[in-house]
Amino acid sequence: MDLVKLWIINGTREFELSKRPIETVTKKGIEFVNEDVLKIDPVNKAVRTRYRQFHYDFLIIALGVELAPEKIPGLKENGFILYDINDVPKIRDTIRRVKSGKIAMAITGLPYKCPPAPFEAALLIRTVLEETGASDSVQMDFFSPTPITLPAGGPQVSEEIFQILKSKKIEFHGNHKTVAVEPNKIKFEEGEANFDILISVPPHKAPSVVVEAGFAESGKFIAVDKTCKTKYDRVYAIGDVNQIMVTDKIAVPKAGIFAEAEGIAVARNIISQIKHELENAVFDGKGGCFLETGKGTAGYIQVDMFATPDPLTQLQTSSTEHFVEKEKFEQDRLKKWL
Ligand SMILES: Cc1cc2nc3c(=O)[nH]c(=O)nc-3n(C[C@H](O)[C@H](O)[C@H](O)COP(=O)(O)OP(=O)(O)OC[C@H]3O[C@@H](n4cnc5c(N)ncnc54)[C@H](O)[C@@H]3O)c2cc1C
Repeated sequence: MDLVKLWIINGTREFELSKRPIETVTKKGIEFVNEDVLKIDPVNKAVRTRYRQFHYDFLIIALGVELAPEKIPGLKENGFILYDINDVPKIRDTIRRVKSGKIAMAITGLPYKCPPAPFEAALLIRTVLEETGASDSVQMDFFSPTPITLPAGGPQVSEEIFQILKSKKIEFHGNHKTVAVEPNKIKFEEGEANFDILISVPPHKAPSVVVEAGFAESGKFIAVDKTCKTKYDRVYAIGDVNQIMVTDKIAVPKAGIFAEAEGIAVARNIISQIKHELENAVFDGKGGCFLETGKGTAGYIQVDMFATPDPLTQLQTSSTEHFVEKEKFEQDRLKKWL
């Protein structure tokens, strides 16, 4: 779902056409309970919703992240939230109408999901402006708290992304930690900038039910290693809700491709335990992510997070083939899981 948000922004996809009924998982013998989890009780091995309590032998926590724009005063009130599905159609309509001025894009918290996505969004917005004829009159600035564009991708890939942005007249400003937003003004730890339109990636946080159950400290995610095992027996955390450190500074990025691989490894190990067999599946940290560059093209960032001594990343040149692969990536997942 998240992936299509960018296609809604550039007008190539409608939200309504992107939905799938999750109830189809029932065909696979999985009971789908459409209720909020209000409490996880790892001591008594139980999960509670408003109406029911479920006891478990194994628990996989896959609750993703919650967006926390409230952590930056004025962020929500004075701009659009790129990752909020309610703001996505507003961004689409606004950029189609804009004639001139300054668009600021800002990453305002770390870590955030799909690290290349905000850069893709910037490139797609620039393409829309080229289509509407407003591009020459619109300045685009991209602010990030990190010194380089994609720290998890390393300096080489970051430089390549920097150059792609530059070629599209999107100015990247590293080391800009947002502290507050006022009407038409974004304030950083040092300095400030004016904007006409602000599009931000807000801070993320672990869902409160996870923090309340003691799986993660406030402001942190569930710390696990490649087994995805939490500190509680037979309880796993996969996907965006977890944090797998690769070095003391770099964590596995929050991405669907990794959530999927972690889920498969955990499922295999649970099956092994049920069958009293050896658990030998691990999340291997290999995957990749598309970097859409506009006009039906995309690059591909290939990743091996656990390569030694450092994670390996490579940005494959932008092409129409990679864009077609991105579309197939979505279709394959829908077919396989839903
Ligand atoms: C714009 C954008 C583009 C992206 N593009 C890509 C891409 O191209 N490739 C890629 O690999 N990744 C991409 N991602 C990242 C990807 O979407 C996420 O990493 C992935 O969805 C994480 O899966 P998850 O299952 O951990 O969490 P989610 O997909 O967020 O699922 C968590 C679910 O848990 C539910 N939940 C939360 N709390 C509760 C509760 N208390 N009770 C019941 N349910 C609850 C939520 O409602 C949600 O449905 C993109 C993200 C964005 C924002």
